[in-house]
Amino acid sequence: MTERKPEGYINAQPLHPESLMMGYGYKPEWSEGAIKCPIFQTSTFVFKTAEEGKAFFELAYGLREQQPGEQVGLIYSRLNNPDLEILEDRLCLWDDAEAGAVFESGMAAIATTVLAYLRPGDALFFSEPLYGGTDYLFRHVLTQFGIQTLSFRAGAPNEEVEQVLASSPLRERLAMIYIETPANPTNALVDIAFCAHLAKKYAPNGRKVPVAVDNTFLGPLWQHPLKHGADLVLYSATKYIGGHSDVIAGACLGTKDALAPVKTLRTFMGTMAGPWTGWLLLRSLETLKLRMTAQMKNARYVADFLADHPKVLKVNYLGHLREEHPQFELYRRQCLAPGGMISFEIAGGEAEAFRFLNALKLIKLAVSLGSTESLAEHPATMTHSDMSKEDQRAFGITENLIRLSVGVEHPEDLVLDLKQALDAV
Ligand SMILES: *Cc1c(COP(=O)(O)O)cnc(C)c1O
Repeated sequence: MTERKPEGYINAQPLHPESLMMGYGYKPEWSEGAIKCPIFQTSTFVFKTAEEGKAFFELAYGLREQQPGEQVGLIYSRLNNPDLEILEDRLCLWDDAEAGAVFESGMAAIATTVLAYLRPGDALFFSEPLYGGTDYLFRHVLTQFGIQTLSFRAGAPNEEVEQVLASSPLRERLAMIYIETPANPTNALVDIAFCAHLAKKYAPNGRKVPVAVDNTFLGPLWQHPLKHGADLVLYSATKYIGGHSDVIAGACLGTKDALAPVKTLRTFMGTMAGPWTGWLLLRSLETLKLRMTAQMKNARYVADFLADHPKVLKVNYLGHLREEHPQFELYRRQCLAPGGMISFEIAGGEAEAFRFLNALKLIKLAVSLGSTESLAEHPATMTHSDMSKEDQRAFGITENLIRLSVGVEHPEDLVLDLKQALDAV
């Protein structure tokens, strides 16, 4: 749980995260009364005395225990910077995390985190499909360092997931479970609590096996993996958290203990975010709830329209799961809302999908997601083109599948655009 600063409460009542995004963790008197935290565009920080410099380094390098009330002072912007520290404090509030670390990209967050935990000979168990960059990192980079991988299909029943692990000799070297839920682009879910159960059950003699969840698609508003037993939550902050298609960034959140090796490796790999990136994300966080709520409502409007359209064969949208669906119970238990990501199959194949995409006028044809503007793309030839045709088929990434990231435009205008583009097919 987040150890809140005094300004996180009124009369001992904790305030909601959206109420704290404008000022939490920052005091105007630090900066001439400026209501907003300035950009601390500085590489290094001046010590008041040599003794202070010594004390700061002792804490930063873990040479001695922190005294009660003692703060780790500012030293150098690869170790810490006010824009990043304030941002980390605010990000922790949404996921109720004890500690956070921000990075210059989502991939920097993911790579630093997995390298902090995995060693040669270890096995990594992960859900598929994964974000393309993560998939490449796991299969083609980690394996060069002697880390072996084993995967299961997102959306598979829990018994099948356990069977994959139980029947592999790699289970004896299990060192991390890494999942993405909902999966991209099909919205298939992975049961976080069940993965936490597997991590305990199959932990090789007393070793702690962390469960890491890439929460980019629904977080930090609509899904809180730490509450379901995850140890580490990862974000591409480029997506909903940044939300304006103008910054690349990432984050990792968890308990203080879980974050300690991640923060250490970040210091020595230099994968931290810069102050300007930190400042942009602070600005974005002020409207996070407004944006994600508008996107979620718009997505429902759009999904309802698509589901009724004669040229649409299938819509993958969490808000349409019915009680008889095998993942309905999991959705209700794990997610707070269906979010803003939809994929759908158009009648036809690649040609029809392309005709539709080329006919869009308001919705932009681009990869990425979670931004204020709506985006459409063709997973089979774009975000998931690296995947074999068999894998694409197994994961439901068909030639007629289109992925939509719904933005904050007027919902009727979005439907107007989708309708005219479908008419053009
Ligand atoms: C975009 C994305 C990433 C990678 O993040 P970058 O900020 O582009 O480095 C990782 N995971 C998911 C689910 C993503 O959508």
